[in-house]
Amino acid sequence: MAAWYDAQTHLFNRGAFIERAKQIALRCQQQQLPFCVIQLDLDHFKRINDTWGHQTGDKALSHVASILRQSLRGDDIAGRVGGEEFCIVLPGTLLPDAVAVAERIRERLDGKEILVRQHATIRISASFGVSCAVLESDYDFEHLQSIADRRLYQAKQTGRNRVCSSD
Ligand code: GH3
Ligand code: MG
Ligand code: MG
Repeated sequence: MAAWYDAQTHLFNRGAFIERAKQIALRCQQQQLPFCVIQLDLDHFKRINDTWGHQTGDKALSHVASILRQSLRGDDIAGRVGGEEFCIVLPGTLLPDAVAVAERIRERLDGKEILVRQHATIRISASFGVSCAVLESDYDFEHLQSIADRRLYQAKQTGRNRVCSSD
């Protein structure tokens, strides 16, 4: 169990997540079901650490993870794939619905103040990239993740705190 989960967020760790994501993608391909990938990265997270300290950064990461967990449906899974980077796979889901999930997470993050000291709160936002196996005619998880990552980078470039689902 401990080998599967990230201790800080209790989400799947990178290795466990990627292994499962690949299995889910393959199953969707075999069953001719749609499949989407959401990649997200927290915005200006270094500033949170620099301003409030690493411990507050850690607290913010736990908060993000709990919002991700609340936002998953049915067979969706989420993992911590980098320090402040997360990935979600959505089996049986087409692009517009995956975008709606990403948008809901974005709003939940952006809309919630996190108490970091008595009388002091911070807000966290994230940028998102979404990709879809059906539209790419490709169910290779790592390829879909790299497309989602490219779109995430575009979301950063165009102002952060947004969801990008096309090139
Ligand atoms: P951008 O909006 O471009 O993503 O800016 P950023 O500051 O989030 O990006 P950058 O990659 O420069 O910094 C990521 C920061 O995340 C730096 C690192 O210290 C912090 N970080 C990564 N893992 C952890 C962690 O486990 N705990 C804490 N507190 N901070 C972490
Ligand atoms: Mg990052
Ligand atoms: Mg970041």
